[in-house]
Amino acid sequence: MRTLIFATNNQHKVDEIKMVTGSDYKIISLKEAGIDIDIPEPFNTLEENAITKAETIYELLGQDCFSEDTGLEVTALNGEPGVKSARYAGEDKSFSDNIDKVLFKLNGQKNREAVFRTVICLVLNGEKFLFEGACRGSITSERKGDGGFGYDPVFIPDGYSETFSQMDAAEKIELSHRTVAVQKLLAHLSINGNFGSI
Ligand code: IMP
Repeated sequence: MRTLIFATNNQHKVDEIKMVTGSDYKIISLKEAGIDIDIPEPFNTLEENAITKAETIYELLGQDCFSEDTGLEVTALNGEPGVKSARYAGEDKSFSDNIDKVLFKLNGQKNREAVFRTVICLVLNGEKFLFEGACRGSITSERKGDGGFGYDPVFIPDGYSETFSQMDAAEKIELSHRTVAVQKLLAHLSINGNFGSI
């Protein structure tokens, strides 16, 4: 089994990614690797944030690793919250406050179109690779469901009538922006994979 460090403190992301990578990979979160740091995300693009997170962990551990950065882009808000999705309503990164802010700004707005974008940065033998995934959908006028995390209670993927939060985990995984990016990562590893373990 191959081991890869996932440069995140978000257990929801770890759980989702483990569902996609299956038993061929051992995915280790920062917590499991014994690293207690909150890597800053100061940049204006998902790519730069993802690269910084992966590079930081690679420099610390010298192990192959990957990171991801995700943003929710709402058309009627000119792409906000975008790369600032985690801290849209403040530095405490409250999922609930972030949703309230999006719903408030979209109040009365007919165009509810939005897209989740994920960028993964893999550092393999010191070399960096980027993989992207997207999921198009729309923003509801109120929260629905209690599964998932982040903006899931207000996001309905195109072609569906339930929010990500109303779906079971497997159904969200099938449609998710993150899965699209992870599948590209796995395809790359199946061709180029040759990595160490901790
Ligand atoms: P980051 O990638 O950890 O910076 O996350 C950006 C923001 O988007 C955070 O508020 C996350 O909770 C949220 N987010 C990331 N992925 C998802 C998802 O799959 N569904 C809903 N919200 C998400």
